[in-house]
Amino acid sequence: MKKIPTVVRFFYFFLGAFISWEIFCAPAVEAKTKEIIRVLILRDVSHFKVSGQELALGDLLTGQSFFKNIKKSSLTVERDGGPRLRVRGHSISARALVLTSARSPLTINGRRYRGKIRVFPGPNRDLWVINELPLEEYLVGLINCEISSQWSLDALKAQAVTARTFATFQKGSRSEGLYDVDSSVNDQVYAGIGLEDPRSRRAVKETEGELLLYQGKPIFAVYHACCGGKTESPEYLWTGNFPYLKSIVCTYCLASPHFLWNYQVDAESLAKVLGSMGFLSQRVRGIQIGERSESRRVLQLLIRGERDQGEIPGKEFRRLLGYDQLRSTNFWLKESDGVFLFSGLGWGHGVGLCQWGAKGMADAGIDYRSILKYYYQNVEIGQLPR
Ligand SMILES: [Zn+2]
Repeated sequence: MKKIPTVVRFFYFFLGAFISWEIFCAPAVEAKTKEIIRVLILRDVSHFKVSGQELALGDLLTGQSFFKNIKKSSLTVERDGGPRLRVRGHSISARALVLTSARSPLTINGRRYRGKIRVFPGPNRDLWVINELPLEEYLVGLINCEISSQWSLDALKAQAVTARTFATFQKGSRSEGLYDVDSSVNDQVYAGIGLEDPRSRRAVKETEGELLLYQGKPIFAVYHACCGGKTESPEYLWTGNFPYLKSIVCTYCLASPHFLWNYQVDAESLAKVLGSMGFLSQRVRGIQIGERSESRRVLQLLIRGERDQGEIPGKEFRRLLGYDQLRSTNFWLKESDGVFLFSGLGWGHGVGLCQWGAKGMADAGIDYRSILKYYYQNVEIGQLPR
């Protein structure tokens, strides 16, 4: 028998060791994909409807199973008079519930969701409904809620990594709470599996587990639709130390339909909006823009009413008028015959990644890693050790 040279034997030894490592270390990949996220999908509701095949319902706190494997079922869960929950049509009362469906997604008020549903009584005699599902699956559904999966693939990948990092950061800071992320614009928009598609799945799969890290930790990866030419510094919106979030020039979002916007409101309507929130309940006579940030966003406004006047922070003024009306705080205004005309740049708070800028960069052939490192300074893209 021909003798195998030592160097070849070493080669096969290391090849065998590598293959064994690949096989036996597979659970690390498995664990990564099993990272769970708790998404708040409903609150401020007194009841909701759930349906699914082989639906199972249990008491989350005691583990008691009320029923399971009902072939096809539809239930209405509602808040009891007190701190308990009730399932209409069934003599069930519990302080918290868990719902699962073995054979299909769960449908909540017409929207389909993967994983489990947890239900808690909320603080305002309402219900909190939380969807618990794998983080990677959550991201597949999120892409089309935040941007369009028809954008260039590198823009989708940049969105996937940013959203994964944001969710992971929030999960770390809310570990004591009932949920990790809100499914509204308060955090990241998520509407279940209805908007999943192959391109979103590909972007998530090809960046699986990747996070934006600063000194080895997931960053506060905030983002917004369009910066309007320059991103904002975080200190005007949040307290904390975020050295990777700096105001930078962005010319990649120039083609965005949200780059320039206009909004007008008359003095009576403005008084009504401000008054309903407890601010200066009187006809508005004038608005004066005060201090601006370095990126030209309005930090402070002086509002003169018929009798009084008051100062209001720019971000609070935007919140009161509505985030979809006053699209950013980077605006200027003029008054004409009792009508206030706002013109502004960009959409959103302006900090971190500019989604339309990421699209512009990806369209120009820039890869997602370079896009991310443009908007988040001195970060690494990697995975957390397990
Ligand atoms: Zn931009």
